[in-house]
Amino acid sequence: MNNIFGYTKEMLEDYFIKMGEKKFKATQVFEWLYIHNEYNIANFSNIKKEVLAKMQEDFNADFIKIEQVLEGKDVKKFLFRLLDGEKIEAVLMEHDYGLSVCVSSQVGCNMGCKFCESGRLKKVRNLETYEIVEQILLIQKYINKRINSIVMMGIGEPFDNYNNIINFIKIVNDPKGLAIGSRHITVSTCGLIPKIKEFSNLELQVNLAISLHGATDEVRNKIMPVNKVYNIEALIDTIKEYIAKTNRRVTIEYVMLNMINDSENDAINLANLLKGLNVYVNLIPYNETKNIGFKKSSKDRIDKFFNILNSRKINVTVRREFGGNIKAACGQLRSESD
Ligand code: SAH
Repeated sequence: MNNIFGYTKEMLEDYFIKMGEKKFKATQVFEWLYIHNEYNIANFSNIKKEVLAKMQEDFNADFIKIEQVLEGKDVKKFLFRLLDGEKIEAVLMEHDYGLSVCVSSQVGCNMGCKFCESGRLKKVRNLETYEIVEQILLIQKYINKRINSIVMMGIGEPFDNYNNIINFIKIVNDPKGLAIGSRHITVSTCGLIPKIKEFSNLELQVNLAISLHGATDEVRNKIMPVNKVYNIEALIDTIKEYIAKTNRRVTIEYVMLNMINDSENDAINLANLLKGLNVYVNLIPYNETKNIGFKKSSKDRIDKFFNILNSRKINVTVRREFGGNIKAACGQLRSESD
C-alpha cells in the first residue's frame, strides 16, 4: 500500500488508465486532497464505489506527525516524527511578501560540508515524496493559512534524492495540487553537476540556487568535500549551460565564514568568476553552532565583501537572518533534537 501524497497527477492518471477508468479521476482525487483537504478516500463522493474500494486497497493517507513547534520572531521551527521514528525539521518564515517554508529532503546528509550542522548526521535515508508534501500540508493546517513559497534548503541534499524531489515539485506546483507557482519554488544544491544538467532539461520554471561558498578550488576544497568531485570550473560551466538552456537567473549562495572565504581577495575572485553571468549572489551571514568551530564574518567584512561585488556590477544581497535563537536558521537544522 502506497501513500497517496507521493503520487503526482500523471502517476494517478496512469493508475486509473491501467484500471480501465478515465484519467480525469486523477484531477478529482487531487481536488479532494489539495483543495478540499479531504483525506478519507471513502468520502470522495464523485468517484464510484467500486473504484473507491480498489483505491482503499492500494493507497493510504497516513501522516507524519508534528512532534514540536518552536516559535521565534517571524519564524516557527517544526520538528516532525516520521512513521518509522526518524526525525526531520522544517521552518516557516513570515516575509513581507508572504509565507515561505524551508523543507527537508533527507534524514541526515552525506555531503559533509564542514560548516553545516545538518551534515553531522550522515544520511540515514531519502525522504519519500509524501514525507516532503506532508511537511507543507501539516504546516498549512497548523497555521490555517496557505503557503506562498517553498525553498528546498532544509536537511539534506535535494539532488541526492532527485526523483522524489521532482515529484514533490510537480505535486505542489500542480494547479489542482497546492498550486504554488514554479517561480515561488527554489531548489538548492551543493553542486551535483549531473543532476543540475538533468534538471535543466525538465522545463520546470523552478528557481535554482547553488551553494558555492568559495571562489577558488583551494578555498572550496577546504569546506565542501563535494568540490573534489565537481570542481569550480566544471560547476561554473554547468551553470552557464543551465542559464543558456533555461534562460533563468541562478542564485549563488555564499556563506560568510570569518577568515575562511571572506577576504577582499575572495570577493575579487568571486566577482571575476561570475562576471557576465545571469546570477545573483546571496551572502549568508554564517549561523554559528556550538558543535562547529567556524565563526561568522563581522559586519564590517560582510559590508566590504558586498561593496566589492556591487562595484563590479554583480547583483548581490545579504540574506536576512532568521530564527537563530530557536536554531532554525540555515545550517542549524538537524535530524535529532537536543
Ligand atoms: N544541500 C543543499 C541544501 C541545503 S541549503 C545545499 O547545499 O544547497 C542550506 C544552505 O545553508 C546552503 O547554502 C548551506 O551551505 C547553508 N548553510 C549551511 N550551514 C550554514 C550555517 N551554519 N549558516 C549559514 N548558512 C549555512
